[in-house]
Amino acid sequence: MFLNDDSFSRRKFVLASAGGLIGAAVGAGAGEAGAQTTSSASAPVAASGPAQEPRAIGRPMPELENPLPMAPDQRIGWAIVGLGDFAINQILPTIGDTRMCKLTAVVSGNAEKARTIAQAYGVPSRSVYSYDDFDRIRDNPDVQVVYIILPNALHRDWTIRAARAGKHVFCEKPMAVSVDDCKAMIDACRTARRKLMVAYRAQFEPHIMLAKQMIGEGKIGTVRSLAGEHGRMLELDKPRDQWRARQELAGGGSLYDIGIYNLNTARFLAGEEPVEVTATLRNSDDPRVTVETNVDWTMRFASGIRSTFNSSYGYQNNKRLQVMGTEGTIELDPATEYYGNRLLLKKEQAVEQREIRPTNQFAAEMDHFAESILQDRQPKTPGEEGMRDVQIMQAIYQAARTGRPVEIPPRG
Ligand code: NAD
Repeated sequence: MFLNDDSFSRRKFVLASAGGLIGAAVGAGAGEAGAQTTSSASAPVAASGPAQEPRAIGRPMPELENPLPMAPDQRIGWAIVGLGDFAINQILPTIGDTRMCKLTAVVSGNAEKARTIAQAYGVPSRSVYSYDDFDRIRDNPDVQVVYIILPNALHRDWTIRAARAGKHVFCEKPMAVSVDDCKAMIDACRTARRKLMVAYRAQFEPHIMLAKQMIGEGKIGTVRSLAGEHGRMLELDKPRDQWRARQELAGGGSLYDIGIYNLNTARFLAGEEPVEVTATLRNSDDPRVTVETNVDWTMRFASGIRSTFNSSYGYQNNKRLQVMGTEGTIELDPATEYYGNRLLLKKEQAVEQREIRPTNQFAAEMDHFAESILQDRQPKTPGEEGMRDVQIMQAIYQAARTGRPVEIPPRG
């Protein structure tokens, strides 16, 4: 809805000559608002019809900008497993922004933290679980989805436990540390006839969705190439980065943790699969870090599109993704921040910044899963999507190890 060309304002930057940026023009929205103010001030409308009494009256429902939220008793109930940084700072506050979800249980290894969070969000004490007594969640009819926000190596076992408890599973990225683990998760959910979705929030991020739409409409001609970086400094004094530094818990380093955003988004935007990868990687000298810190990789896609990406734990925050076409470039910079992403459309004579009404990508992906359950439909990013990325990342590591291009078999 908000991807329609009319529903966002554009800031147009004018180029003096090829490549020279000389001025930033005005937001269209501001111009329109100004025009309205001028006309109402200079041309007052003559009163007509009977005078209205100054009293409160009821009017029909205004046109809805967003669908109404579901009534609380009809919403899908979510249990959050793992009350770490991402769960507490991003996901729990987001649930209030969803239309179809509610928090109905928490699962944690720290009883005091779990109680505090449960109280803050109104979760009854009977729905607070430890890692040991989690399996009794099977008897909790208030929980339909288990959302796994644990270190990567734990995703497999917790998905299987949740599916066996009869719950649908929403699992953080990367889906798991090996393709075999992904297969086991998919099988467990299939056997339990429960749905499985991997939390690829970028596919619900409005700038990325707009980029996908613009590519489909041919706004940059034929896509030829993608490029980008995703890097941040690893902070070993923070618990959230201590497990990320360990191969046995993280499964991989910067590629697994953050390179995956550009990998998955490139596949989404290209609308096709890579058929071959090449790569080089670097490790850290710090003995606390047993994962790779830096990966440079290329992908060749089925139609001949090429991509060049880098992931790193060695430079400050950078989350850029560019899509180059025969008639222009879409630059997303940043592409995959939680908030404040930006899209530039660069053509030969102009650069346009597309401004989109901010929407909450976490709420959007959770509502999508809730809707998939309510309508019994396959979610947009099911287990097979997560497994594909793990398979490609394993091929990238193999290419780096062997120094040779690695072919990626077509999707089965
Ligand atoms: P975190 O360290 O802050 O939280 C991890 C939680 O798991 C903690 O509550 C910790 O106590 C618990 N835990 C249980 N067993 C553990 C063990 N053996 N070792 C360490 N912790 C253990 O990490 P996080 O940043 O919240 O990341 C958790 C997951 O969420 C990861 O899979 C990560 O990739 C994903 N994540 C996704 C996004 C996104 O934007 N989609 C952002 C951040 C993290």
